[in-house]
Amino acid sequence: MTIPFVTFIPMERELEKELRSAFERVFTRSWYIDGMEDEAFERAFAEYCKIKYCIGVGNGLDALMLALKALEVGEGDEVIVPSNTYIATALAVTYVGAKPVFVEPRIETFNINPEVIETSISKKTKAIIPVHLYGQACEMDEIMRIAKKHGLRVVEDCAQAHGATYKGKKVGTFGDAAGFSFYPGKNLGALGDAGTVVTDDQELAKRIRTLGNYGSDYKYHHIYKGNNSRLDELQAAFLSAKLPSLDKFNEERRRIANRYLNEIKNPKVALPMVLNDMASVWHIFGIRCDERNRLESYLNDNGIGTNKHYPIPMHLQECYRDLGYVEGDFPIAEEISKTELSIPMYYGMKDEEIEYVIEKINEFK
Ligand SMILES: *Cc1c(COP(=O)(O)O)cnc(C)c1O
Repeated sequence: MTIPFVTFIPMERELEKELRSAFERVFTRSWYIDGMEDEAFERAFAEYCKIKYCIGVGNGLDALMLALKALEVGEGDEVIVPSNTYIATALAVTYVGAKPVFVEPRIETFNINPEVIETSISKKTKAIIPVHLYGQACEMDEIMRIAKKHGLRVVEDCAQAHGATYKGKKVGTFGDAAGFSFYPGKNLGALGDAGTVVTDDQELAKRIRTLGNYGSDYKYHHIYKGNNSRLDELQAAFLSAKLPSLDKFNEERRRIANRYLNEIKNPKVALPMVLNDMASVWHIFGIRCDERNRLESYLNDNGIGTNKHYPIPMHLQECYRDLGYVEGDFPIAEEISKTELSIPMYYGMKDEEIEYVIEKINEFK
């Protein structure tokens, strides 16, 4: 049996009619940027998240960067970022001229550990970016309490957590603003690059929209040195075609995850932990194994696709050598980078495929 790490084909086949008609609609109208599709998707996604404002942007990195910029985080400021994340979280901080300050995750959940955030706060700290990694919310009560106590801004990185909740409330609604990515592989993916910022703050929303449109408040008048980062009409139309099915897609991921959690039984393999207050949307199902590379080759040899999230923690990335971190600075992030293995997780996985993955992992000696 051959099981890919991920495939979008079952999802796309199911929505083929809606996706093709989305294309037809935009093509017939011949209007590609800043139009009614963008507006309609923004309204629908804001409603889905239960938040007031949604601003379509070019991708998830820009979403985070524009949110920080609009919050006036910049030169001389520090921003707290988990050391176990995708590079975009850290780069958003770098792009506004601020310095990312990395902190340890928890080994059980892979998410930022609120207990160590406070020890990393300095006079220069301006914001925290909690990343709801692999689809599970961070411990937001704790994080918001720390932010309030120290007067810090919070920008949630929701790139892997569309629809995930913390105490019944959707992620993206806790901080000052939140960035979502609609990269094709995310739980809600476009057919190309796309992203959005959500916020309840009207002024902030206005600033973000202006910043992403060349800093222009009206045509050929520029109040900021802005960026070009807009959600195009085609991607917005595709996203509108997919959004109504997001909960169903997430529910199916949850069913697969629950089978993995209940049926994978191998003393060499540690399963991910979901904390009580969270409903994960399982962007990634990450297991841990001391012999990760051997397990990986074994699964690949048996036709099972895998991936690693992430093999190099942020503080050891070559591009961040200037920050002066060394190996050993974040033992937990380093441990995750050496032991984490992501196993197949996608809408449309058949029962016999799920069972085959479970069986092969259980047979690993
Ligand atoms: C994918 C991702 C991003 C960046 O999104 P893009 O749309 O690729 O720019 C940011 N943060 C995390 C955690 C991600 O997984």
